Amino acid sequence: MKIYNTLSKRIEEFIPYSQKEVTMYTCGPTVYHYAHIGNLRTYIAEDILEKTLNYLGYNVNRVMNITDVGHLSSDADSGEDKMVKGAKREHKTVLEIAKYYTECFKKDCERLNIKWPDTVVPATTLIPDYIEFIEGLMKKGYAYLANGNVYFDTSKLNDYYKLTNHNVEELISGVRDTVEEDTNKKNKTDFVLWFTKSKFEDQELKWDSPWGLGYPGWHIECSCIALKFLGEHLDIHCGGVDNIFPHHTNEIAQTESYIGHKWCNYWVHTEHLNDTTGKMSKSNGEFLTVDLLEKKGYNPLVYRLFCLQSHYKNQLTFTYESLDIATNTYNKLISKIKSIKKDDSEIILSEFDKYNNQFKKALEDNLNTSNALTVLYDVIKSNLNNNTKLKLIESFDNVLSLNLIQEDKIDDELVSYIKEMIEKRSEAKKNKNFEEADLIRKQLEEKGIILKDTREGTTFEVIK
Ligand code: AMP
Ligand code: ZN
Repeated sequence: MKIYNTLSKRIEEFIPYSQKEVTMYTCGPTVYHYAHIGNLRTYIAEDILEKTLNYLGYNVNRVMNITDVGHLSSDADSGEDKMVKGAKREHKTVLEIAKYYTECFKKDCERLNIKWPDTVVPATTLIPDYIEFIEGLMKKGYAYLANGNVYFDTSKLNDYYKLTNHNVEELISGVRDTVEEDTNKKNKTDFVLWFTKSKFEDQELKWDSPWGLGYPGWHIECSCIALKFLGEHLDIHCGGVDNIFPHHTNEIAQTESYIGHKWCNYWVHTEHLNDTTGKMSKSNGEFLTVDLLEKKGYNPLVYRLFCLQSHYKNQLTFTYESLDIATNTYNKLISKIKSIKKDDSEIILSEFDKYNNQFKKALEDNLNTSNALTVLYDVIKSNLNNNTKLKLIESFDNVLSLNLIQEDKIDDELVSYIKEMIEKRSEAKKNKNFEEADLIRKQLEEKGIILKDTREGTTFEVIK
């Protein structure tokens, strides 16, 4: 498989470190609020990556954190902790909102058919590991204590910027723009590993440490969780493009300084979903959530299809008009597939392999989901027999996860109504009242209910 690697800034052949399994780490949500559909675009892309690897025969071990402490309002260590802000907003404790929004995120993932990672770790559960890690960095001379906070010393690295496309000057001025001057830092790009002092003293969760009562910086959780559960050689690390700097840049700096060698081989970043005003936000404009889409009558899987129609490395703009178009496409697709009925045709293996290889090829090409969807359409349009078509569609859906094969659900009320009418018709036939029997058949037919008289009795089929 070929995948775009932010580290090398090119599309590369994917070669896992070990034949046994692919290790994959995903930056999880900051659970201070609902996830917006932009966040979920990234999780859909990562789900496609994991399922593609599975489809190609790899065994994937995937770990994700849940950020429930230390992510400040600005990614560059300034402002109030997002969790504290969220708790205040709702007059609840930090742990209460963390629990609530983690559950909401899980439900969003279920509705979008995003597989829950094998291991999910809340940041607050691993504090002793962070302390050990920071002590290790201090011993090696990569970290320093200044006015109560522990900082990572970025001047100790020659290749601090290796993940970003920016040059040093651009990044430094970017950081200067967003950070209120922290006079404790030796270098502008140094970042906090452990806070005991911040402007906001109402931090709810604090832990004892060698440097005093405090709490971890944001980046440390991902390094320590990944190391603990996936070891020192990570194959893939994912996130949205906004994570490249400073979050992933800082993760690499501290992790490689700690372990003393290269850590992760492939960095995979999903481009942003924007709304018509630009950057998607939880505070400005309409807060677009899966709940909101459902309330407006949209099927969450239509949003998944909308994402798959474009490439994860391209920015995507969300509008309701485009979601309406995707709804139309999805409904037509499902109805076409419904019209392909299982029969007694034999699955033609050579044809199955031909289309399956085309599907794999599209995904192996840096996850080209829109080409993969084209292969799906080609199968539907083809003159393959029904069972071969259905087998291919079922197989593709292991990756696409669009619930392509749907059983017609007939509700109980309809079934009892049909049974009642069948009984009435048999009664009419018994009484030689064929006119009435025919009328009942016709009335049912108009409703899409087809009766079949068999030796065992009358059966029915609902065709719409
Ligand atoms: P957060 O909950 O803010 O930590 O973000 C969760 C994930 O969503 C991270 O991987 C972010 O990089 C990603 N993300 C944030 N905003 C967007 C967006 N507008 N489009 C796509 N992904 C995003
Ligand atoms: Zn992370």
